[in-house]
Amino acid sequence: MTSTMPALTLRGPGDVALTDKPVPEPGPGEVLLAVEATTICGTDLRLISGQKTSGVRYGATLGHEVAGRIAAIGEGVTDLPTGANLRVGQQATVSIVVSCGTCRACLAGREHLCTSMELVGYAIDGGLAPYLLVPARAVARGNVIPVPAEIPANRLAIAEPMSCVLNGHRRHGGVNPGETVVVIGGGPIGLLHTQLNLASGAAQVILSENNESRRASGAELGAVTTAPDQLEAVLAERTEGWGADVVVVAIGLPFLAQTSLSLAAPGGRVSWFAGFPKDATAEVDPNTVHYGEVTVSGGSNARRADVHDAVRLLSRGVIDERPIVTHTFGLSEWESAIDAVKNHVGVKIAIDPTR
Ligand SMILES: [Zn+2]
Ligand SMILES: [Zn+2]
Repeated sequence: MTSTMPALTLRGPGDVALTDKPVPEPGPGEVLLAVEATTICGTDLRLISGQKTSGVRYGATLGHEVAGRIAAIGEGVTDLPTGANLRVGQQATVSIVVSCGTCRACLAGREHLCTSMELVGYAIDGGLAPYLLVPARAVARGNVIPVPAEIPANRLAIAEPMSCVLNGHRRHGGVNPGETVVVIGGGPIGLLHTQLNLASGAAQVILSENNESRRASGAELGAVTTAPDQLEAVLAERTEGWGADVVVVAIGLPFLAQTSLSLAAPGGRVSWFAGFPKDATAEVDPNTVHYGEVTVSGGSNARRADVHDAVRLLSRGVIDERPIVTHTFGLSEWESAIDAVKNHVGVKIAIDPTR
């Protein structure tokens, strides 16, 4: 008799429930992870409410920010170059972009823009269950990413958002020592951008955020914090009126497209990192880009290489999850966990599927 496990399943748009699914047994080429923590992000809310429907398979288990441990390894995995270093009991995460490897994006080294990718936690069963089965095609491409030295599960879980932040950071050319960075939005993503920029040599990161306790988290991480209505004045004062070398938009509000351009210094870089509502449009002054030579870039998802780098930054303590992952719930308490995300309780919420 096969045993079953509870899994937070997206059954249809706006229809989520804890359902019983069989505990997967890894077949040839597959790897089974025992999940120790899965953090929840804004995209999960949009999946649950039915706002986000693309790339979704109804019936799939949610959860794409996963920390786990290898529970079982299918036949043939350890014979693969990508599986040779995997062993049962090892701490590991999963790179959620399962790409084809052959389309133009994949060939150009942009697997996260693969035209036929599937994502773990969207189309492939994710980590809001005690076990996650990594499909053979993902294992073969090296999507199971082991951790060199043990770290807390809540730290490893944010390797996924951290990898996306790294990708966005690289898209705008990173930060040079001594530069000023403005981060708009002090949620989990804004706080990760803050830490990465400070660790990369920014002279100052000015974090704009409405919520006072999130501003306190930003200050704890070394940012200069301000309420949004004071941002322009604080930036002018701290840069002698020059503006920001880098502006990162970490909240998906369309009007921030123009705000971010107006905050950038001549020759500055702007990252529209956050996802905006479907079909959103924004009015911008194009001359900011023309005369000011401001560069605009975006960032969506991440490559396996970004996940490896994220794991290294987290395991060496360069990025600290403690001011970010503030609350942990059991899987049976998932409704309270989702409410906490909705109501901005703390910063980021983790679910421990073992309880
Ligand atoms: Zn996410
Ligand atoms: Zn592809």
